[in-house]
Amino acid sequence: MDDLGGRRARALRAAVEEGLVREGEEVVGLLDVVGIERSAAALQAAFAIPGVDVTHTFAVKAASLVPVLALLGECGLGAEVASPGELAVARAAGIPAERTVLDSPAKTVSELREALTLGVAVNADNPQELERIDALRAAAPTSSPLGLRVNPQIGGGSIGAMSTATATSKFGVALRDPGAEEWVLRAYAERPWLNRLHTHTGSQGVPLELMAAGVRAAYDIAERVNQAAGRPQITVLDIGGGLPVNFRSDATAPSFADYADLLRAEVPGLFDGRYGLVTEFGRSLLAKNGAVLARVEYVKSAGGRPIAVTHAGAQVATRTVFAPEAWPIRVLALDGEGREKTGEPVDQDVAGPCCFAGDLVARGRALPLLAAGDHVALLDTGAYYFSNHFAYNSLPRPAVHGFTVSAAGAVAFTPVRTAQTRAELLAESGGGLPPLRRASAVSGP
Ligand SMILES: *Cc1c(COP(=O)(O)O)cnc(C)c1O
Repeated sequence: MDDLGGRRARALRAAVEEGLVREGEEVVGLLDVVGIERSAAALQAAFAIPGVDVTHTFAVKAASLVPVLALLGECGLGAEVASPGELAVARAAGIPAERTVLDSPAKTVSELREALTLGVAVNADNPQELERIDALRAAAPTSSPLGLRVNPQIGGGSIGAMSTATATSKFGVALRDPGAEEWVLRAYAERPWLNRLHTHTGSQGVPLELMAAGVRAAYDIAERVNQAAGRPQITVLDIGGGLPVNFRSDATAPSFADYADLLRAEVPGLFDGRYGLVTEFGRSLLAKNGAVLARVEYVKSAGGRPIAVTHAGAQVATRTVFAPEAWPIRVLALDGEGREKTGEPVDQDVAGPCCFAGDLVARGRALPLLAAGDHVALLDTGAYYFSNHFAYNSLPRPAVHGFTVSAAGAVAFTPVRTAQTRAELLAESGGGLPPLRRASAVSGP
């Protein structure tokens, strides 16, 4: 099966037919294995420049699932991690240290020590973190490539929470602040081992031109560092991730090739072989390769508005529910067999199972009228929807299944994550710990 929509339709139907969605597991995640491989291949092709050493790392937060990381690792990708937990996920997936980058704004000393011991690349976020690295390096040698994250302060995009390069962003060293550039030049001059420079200038909602301007600013400061050093001290530029995703149709736009072409035009020196490159894409590698499939439990009407009450709400589509303007997603109406419904579109709300009124994944959406026992599919949810579970109402993390579709259209599923069990939910809720005792019983009279 060659097209994304065709593979997805087969998988949705098969998931219902085979009982992946069932009593007790009324919502599941699906991931298109071939789609993921193709996204990875498109990224590699876009940045395949003779003479330039490129390491593509996957931003683990977008899908912190060990089998997914393992698949991406097989495809030749590495991992960008931002916490000890994400580093553990990447290691469990067999991602080698040479293809792992640690970026997080709040790295502890023990987290830094672990990374330096493993030889994982670290991008320091701020001067204090750099001083911690100084001390750790003095205490024990390390093979970790080390860099500094800069914020080129080129401005934000349409989603404030996704804009990493505003004047007051919490990330990196703010390059345009008074004295900052001089400080950066001095930091490199004093540390001949500091050999990388990192920027991640945006994410969903940030236009490509702005991202390219951010990379340009980072490149320019790297050139100044190297000029001042009289040698190529910075050997690797980590240009981050952030390619926006089209949530309106199955089209991949912009593409990795569009971004690489723009960078080639705007920052030609990036590709002339003097620098190795690291990228850190997340959403653009996975989003279009995933869907959430959920059963419609009831339908009702309120104030003249039809409402479908489904099992997919804020617990899986957290950003969409809380910030619907920034994170709209397509919803497919499927029948009891998992086939796309036909019929006159009717404006209706698609609600989730959480006990708060705003738990809606679509409001007044024109869809064939849903009925109890039907299903809905939330599209383009392969990135960030399976890794950012919101434990509201003690709703369990749903299972995630990878799927492949044969040329004849047969679907094969492979488990990626099992649904959280009742026992796991209880453990997460302090189950098994002794009851809190009344204060008078603990402290006495
Ligand atoms: C989140 C993040 C990424 C990935 O961003 P996407 O928009 O998912 O591509 C890359 N690098 C850093 C430092 C990040 O914080």
